[in-house]
Amino acid sequence: MDLLTKRTLMDYDAPNASTAIVNGKSSNVLNWDDVRFSWAYPKYKRMLSNFWTPFEINMSKDITQFPQLTESEQETFLKIIGLLALLDSIQTDYAGKVADYLTDSSLNALMIILAQQEVIHNHSYSYVLSSIVSKHKQDEVFEYWRTDPVLQKRNRFVTDGYRKFAENPTIENLLESLVYDVILEGLFFYSGFAFFYNLARNQKMLATSTMINYINRDEQIHVGLFEKILKEILKENPGYNNEEFNRFGTQTIREAAELEIEWARHIIGSHIEGLMIDEVVDYIRFMANKRARQLGFLPPYEGYKSNPMRWIIAYQEVDQGKTDFFEQKPRQYTKATDSNGFDEL
Ligand code: ZN
Ligand code: ZN
Repeated sequence: MDLLTKRTLMDYDAPNASTAIVNGKSSNVLNWDDVRFSWAYPKYKRMLSNFWTPFEINMSKDITQFPQLTESEQETFLKIIGLLALLDSIQTDYAGKVADYLTDSSLNALMIILAQQEVIHNHSYSYVLSSIVSKHKQDEVFEYWRTDPVLQKRNRFVTDGYRKFAENPTIENLLESLVYDVILEGLFFYSGFAFFYNLARNQKMLATSTMINYINRDEQIHVGLFEKILKEILKENPGYNNEEFNRFGTQTIREAAELEIEWARHIIGSHIEGLMIDEVVDYIRFMANKRARQLGFLPPYEGYKSNPMRWIIAYQEVDQGKTDFFEQKPRQYTKATDSNGFDEL
């Protein structure tokens, strides 16, 4: 059990570029032209160039559309927002805890930007809710994590994995928590994303979907960053890249996918027009396989090699040169100043 040591505030005898990703030495001075990992600076640039805030998004059309959604659409909409709000809140804090044990000033910088983006994601949920429902309802949605049993079960799965690392910061627990991280950012958001993109496909709630699309774009980069961190730790500490860890990876991603499927049946089921639950289930299994491969584990499901929801690609993979649905249209929002569009009603 190798305990992790925290990054020191200043080390006069250490070089500026760190000597190792964890349990290494670094002066803690940050010079982007003298860092250990060549991928850190491009990531930094990419994260900065994606900067956005909810204030830019004009909610006026969504405000008039929300009451016109079916009752189950409204209910699912609010439940998903409630779920995302919880995940992004935890994520802000988790990023900081990981950062403490990275003995590399440039990776710490990336984690700070990541955490800041999680704060913005969180803000966006309050922003959407304060536009479309009463304050009373908004407060209720932010309590769903406490009151909905299916949601509780699913969230506890990740938070337990995080807690183990927070309470006992060993290399092994950090590595395992990184798998939970990729589950949170790269799998647990995805049936929620599918729901919003399906609404957008039907010309509903485009402002909210635009916001979800920005969040999705950020999350893809976050998953990529944690993937890099996991791989570098394994590269520098190859003893941990053993059969047990690899089995843990496949098994945990499988369990997560099953929880996500249970959740999708609960919130989407057969009551959302245009979204077939069987397709969503296949999509979750496909995503689980994709994340497992990405981290170097065997995929948990046989088959499921291609995306069964082809239409979603245009909405989600904004960073891969694919068509950006939202950019194709006259932008749903025009940059608003400090109002969310209420003034235009
Ligand atoms: Zn987020
Ligand atoms: Zn994230």
